[in-house]
Amino acid sequence: MKKKISSVSSAPVRQCANIKSKKHPDVQCPFTASQGEFCSRHSKKPTRFQEGNTLTPKPSYTDVKSIIRIQNMWRNRVWFLRRKRQGPIVMIPEVSENKSDICTLEDVGQIPLMYRWCYIDNNKHKWTFDIRSLSMLRSNDKNTKLLNPYTKEDIPVKPYDTFINRCTQLRSHKYCLLHINDIDLTPEQLWHQSVLDVSMKYDALGYNISLEWLNMDDKQCYTLYFELWDLWMYRLDLPNELKKKVVPDWNKIETPLFKWLPIEVRHRRDKTWWQKNILELLNRFVCANEKEHRTLGALYGMTAFALANSTVRNVYPWLVDV
Ligand SMILES: [Zn+2]
Repeated sequence: MKKKISSVSSAPVRQCANIKSKKHPDVQCPFTASQGEFCSRHSKKPTRFQEGNTLTPKPSYTDVKSIIRIQNMWRNRVWFLRRKRQGPIVMIPEVSENKSDICTLEDVGQIPLMYRWCYIDNNKHKWTFDIRSLSMLRSNDKNTKLLNPYTKEDIPVKPYDTFINRCTQLRSHKYCLLHINDIDLTPEQLWHQSVLDVSMKYDALGYNISLEWLNMDDKQCYTLYFELWDLWMYRLDLPNELKKKVVPDWNKIETPLFKWLPIEVRHRRDKTWWQKNILELLNRFVCANEKEHRTLGALYGMTAFALANSTVRNVYPWLVDV
């Protein structure tokens, strides 16, 4: 049975940008955009869907000239942005040390352009990856740094920042950061994407959350909920003005940060329910308008996480050693 999760507007992934079929050019393909902007069926020969596609008048000769000028300007701009966001050799992957992608084993020149990411290491060696492969390796890695899978050396800070920014950019446009061939994502894959979104926000603030850490049972989840609540309400003793900045509207009736007192949910035994609520909660702490407040929120979220989970504590011992 196929679930058309992708047609739900709140779905964390992008919908295929193609027309449904030649017979139905007025309807958008309902499937998940697994290959960049399109689903696997439409990625080879795409026909872009346009809403309310009505006949437009033919442009005049002068119009065409202006259009071409604007297009050229844009093309240069896009080139510049691509190099800035995806690395200096994004258009010439053939000069890379590695000839194929680490996960898909696909020739680096075959990696879809939007997913290509590259950098030059300290020894002037050039590397090209499918950003989905790196993001998957990264999310399963317990290290706090990103390693080049070929050399096992740290990826330097500057390219690392572009990597995180590119992932965040793709995800904010709902591009999938998983390698998938299926027409539709499974609930597990959709969950993986949501987790990735939150973990990338912490990443950008200097904390790597391994996806494995979030795979907690109901008891661990409760402990984390309790620690978050206790720190926020009492132990940190944050002034109310600061609290409002770290988590806007945290105590509004419509958007309470803590929907329940710990005692009310203490006996809940539904792991899925817990994981969803914990993820929402961790997300609220890194959504402030100002970076300094997001940083504070991340520190707070990670402290509770380290108090509740010994694996996190081993990676970030300084969080609880105060
Ligand atoms: Zn499609």
